[in-house]
Amino acid sequence: MLEFLEQILEKQYGEENKNKILEGYNSKRKVTFRVNTLKSDICEIEKILNELNFEYENVPWSKEAFILKNAKESDIQELEIYKQGKIYLQSLSSMLPPIVLQPKEGADILDMAAAPGGKTTQMAALSNNKAHITACEMNNIRIEKLKYNIEKQGASCVYIMQKDSRQIDDFFSFDQILLDAPCSGSGTLNFEDKNIDKYFTLKLIEKSTKAQFALLNKAVKILKKGQEMVYSTCSILSQENEEIVEKVMKENKIEIVPINFEGIEHLPILPTKIKGTVCVCPNELYEGFFIIKLKKI
Ligand code: SAM
Repeated sequence: MLEFLEQILEKQYGEENKNKILEGYNSKRKVTFRVNTLKSDICEIEKILNELNFEYENVPWSKEAFILKNAKESDIQELEIYKQGKIYLQSLSSMLPPIVLQPKEGADILDMAAAPGGKTTQMAALSNNKAHITACEMNNIRIEKLKYNIEKQGASCVYIMQKDSRQIDDFFSFDQILLDAPCSGSGTLNFEDKNIDKYFTLKLIEKSTKAQFALLNKAVKILKKGQEMVYSTCSILSQENEEIVEKVMKENKIEIVPINFEGIEHLPILPTKIKGTVCVCPNELYEGFFIIKLKKI
């Protein structure tokens, strides 16, 4: 199944890494969540998990991130702390882009592909609800989910904008931008899904790269000079990652800011074509994910 993908992966990463990725696709991922510091704190959540006999592990690069050892998502969805928005079910990889961006209090931040809002609400929490976040989403149905999550998480510093981000007027400018771009999802494939070859196609990859190129071009236009942005995807294919950035770099004055944060050495990483970027290898804890930080010069 998906022979074309195996060929791409082997060409990009070599046989050993390709096999590691395929093994990662087949492993059952542990349930992970983030403590929403706008509504709760780590002590309260740890106390409740202990009282309810949930076994958990902490994550070396984020105090707010938790890994549950033997729980299903549905076990968590029944808890009051979940219903009250004190925790947010989120994959570990998906928590990385806001940590890399480091949203600042008082900054005008644009989230260009926001729904369902995991990273928007994380940025709100990281800025203590003191950034001015514009969360842009063009899909009618997904924007409802975004609204729901923003309200539930108490992310009151977020303004929602229903729009195709490619059409944002160049008149606007932002201090920080997160472009968590639409992608093929090649980092999160589930090979047990019998329909996988119906939706994961070369056409999907091609469609994604077109959108990614247009979105990143727009992002670098409306980012203020001297300021930083993060481009991320849940794809591990260089066509959707390094190659998009390289193409946009040819036409714009941007430079790569090497990614570094405490605990980064604990990530299972894959080699990338651009130094200073991070490509996470899928495994039982992480989804495959790519992240790059850019500065407009
Ligand atoms: N950042 C989100 C989170 O952490 O919850 C996940 C974003 S998901 C990878 C990409 C989102 O971008 C989808 O909701 C999709 O509808 C939206 N999208 C795709 N193209 C877009 C565009 N041109 N303008 C605005 N939103 C777009």
